[in-house]
Amino acid sequence: MDNEPIIDFNQNLLSFLDKSPTPFHAVSSMSECLDKNDFIQLDELDIWGTLSAGKYYITRNESSLIAFTLAGDDLAETGFKMVGAHTDSPCLKVKPKPEKIKHNLVQLGVEVYGGALLNPWFDRDLSLAGRVSYLDSQHDIQHTLVNFEKAVATIPSLAIHLDREANKDRTVNPQNHLPPIVMQVGDDDLIDFRKLVLQQIQKQSPDLDIAKVLDYEICLYDTQNSAITGLDGDFISSARLDNLLSCYVGVTALLNGDSAQSNLLVCSDHEEVGSVSTSGAQGSFLESVLLRLCPDIEQHHRMLQRSMMISADNAHAVHPNYSDKHDSDHGPKINHGPVIKTNANQRYATNSETSAYFRQLCEQADVPVQDFVVRTDMGCGSTIGPITASTLGVRTIDIGVPTFAMHSIRELAGSQDAFMLNKVLTQFYK
Ligand SMILES: [Zn+2]
Repeated sequence: MDNEPIIDFNQNLLSFLDKSPTPFHAVSSMSECLDKNDFIQLDELDIWGTLSAGKYYITRNESSLIAFTLAGDDLAETGFKMVGAHTDSPCLKVKPKPEKIKHNLVQLGVEVYGGALLNPWFDRDLSLAGRVSYLDSQHDIQHTLVNFEKAVATIPSLAIHLDREANKDRTVNPQNHLPPIVMQVGDDDLIDFRKLVLQQIQKQSPDLDIAKVLDYEICLYDTQNSAITGLDGDFISSARLDNLLSCYVGVTALLNGDSAQSNLLVCSDHEEVGSVSTSGAQGSFLESVLLRLCPDIEQHHRMLQRSMMISADNAHAVHPNYSDKHDSDHGPKINHGPVIKTNANQRYATNSETSAYFRQLCEQADVPVQDFVVRTDMGCGSTIGPITASTLGVRTIDIGVPTFAMHSIRELAGSQDAFMLNKVLTQFYK
């Protein structure tokens, strides 16, 4: 097999992952890519009227994005081929009044965002990134993205000598044990986090007219870049593979898609915390965009019934050290292709109609396909699929690439799987 296209694809995926430490940065990276490919950015505040055939995208809250291509046909007759993914990942988020000084060490108070695996956050070289809202010299509120880029924070573990049971039952109290150390100060020094953020923005964008930082959504992230790993380069090791891998694959597939078909990609924020927000999948973003594209009520509902959604979010690969956590007949393997996720209790939106369709797509794209069903004696996770299926009534399937260590600070995927998923989604968009 000619490996060159996969190597190129993975290099671009790695640089997307590294450029996107927060949902805001992910949306900015995706927008940049769409701009380069002549997509027209729309604003929800503008009058859209009837859009002509072409390529468009919109963002909401700078953290969710919908991109679509219009073929110019009657949408009620064709529907949309839709792919869904999410832009957010579990992380530690800096609190509004974060400054703490203890034993001359400055620490930041943090909240846990989503179902993060907390132990891996210790002893990493962490940085800070996010969105900042500030006052300019005219006293207007503006927003910008900030990224400290270099390692500025660490959460050191407690030495094993002070916790002999650490390897047996180490528990993390998120309030007490997670505040990272960011600097050392003298006895009488005071620290203002907003001033540190202001300095960073001035360093990063010297021409920006910024007088005062008002508020921010800043989170910690690991500065270690993503990498291809394994003796034969079989793996991709990175933060935020859940679910920026699917966002990236969604964008590249949309770019390769057919202009004679109406295609749509929705990447939503806040999946990890239940999707209930203006920009989350349970919010009105997608519904509102679809309504504006096909406002006639009768035609609108016909369009929805002709549409289909592939909800792409990573699956759990069967872990060799913990194989008993999987149903032995439904343990997806790394680099063995995308996984169809099924759950009788509708934690996934997949049904026999949509899974049959996806299986056929994989065959057409010459890509193997796998199945995941959680052990019958265990609870099942969920994703944006059932939300879209239930709020819009669009036929939906939940799929994803198999990964290890989901929700850790560093996750592991196969170096073939993202490329294979890209082939399948490109087939869908053609
Ligand atoms: Zn996810």
